[in-house]
Amino acid sequence: MKLVSYDSAGSWRPGIVVDSSVFDVDTLLKGNRGENARPISSVSELLREYGAGLAELSERLTVAARLKPQAVVGTFDKVRLGPPVTDPSKVLCIGLNYNDHVAETGRALPSHPDIFAKFASTLIGPFDEIRCSGITQNLDFEGELAIVIGKECRGVTAEEALDFVAGVTVLNDITARDLQYRGTQWLAGKAVDASTPCGPALVTLDEVGDVQELSIQTRVNGAQVQSSNTRYMIFPVRELVSYISFFLTLSPGDIITTGTPQGIGAKRQPPLWLKPGDTVEVELQNVGVLRNVVR
Ligand code: MG
Repeated sequence: MKLVSYDSAGSWRPGIVVDSSVFDVDTLLKGNRGENARPISSVSELLREYGAGLAELSERLTVAARLKPQAVVGTFDKVRLGPPVTDPSKVLCIGLNYNDHVAETGRALPSHPDIFAKFASTLIGPFDEIRCSGITQNLDFEGELAIVIGKECRGVTAEEALDFVAGVTVLNDITARDLQYRGTQWLAGKAVDASTPCGPALVTLDEVGDVQELSIQTRVNGAQVQSSNTRYMIFPVRELVSYISFFLTLSPGDIITTGTPQGIGAKRQPPLWLKPGDTVEVELQNVGVLRNVVR
């Protein structure tokens, strides 16, 4: 199942992609949820209600899409998409999670996952413009696999961790390097308003396959600048979820972005900074492509 947030007259609504068309999820579920059920107004709300039964939800929505063609809102490539989850309670980010990236930064291998945060206000849609050039001279890209939590969890083991993950999406952890390195905390460089493309869809785990066997590439103006595979993560997804859930509660819709491989602009010779007019793409196997123009 591919879940999206799509723009409906200025508001985000939850959608599902069936045969290259986007259908409104709340319309598809009407009649199934009882007369007085509240409308489902976001993907995170959908996960709160159905996160424990995503396979059943997928079947129900797919059947309903065939029976209710009036629920279609447009084709996938025409509808304006937001980040798949527009209102996560947390956006947690892992730094230094690929050996070759740790090597290019000159840092020691981490003994535990290195964690920082972004805010929901950083997230933009998969094809939106990245409008950051006015506040930084050193705008950089970081192509990453991001996971979305499906069920609340605290203190889960690595073995059971994937049971609490709804699926996978793509995230470009856009970073203002000059702001990042003004102090010891990375937040200023990582949490710029409307800087972080995410999407195009939340693809559920049953469709993604093995999350640790996905190729990932980043391109700037068509030239490949990062190319790796999620098998090279130092801390795999299940260990990240387990480790984070040891100290905080993960909630449906929460995003964990899992770190970037080697090839960031800051460590290239000469450095490659994103400038107005550049197009940056991140492609994750079985999940999709982000394509964003810098302004
Ligand atoms: Mg990153």
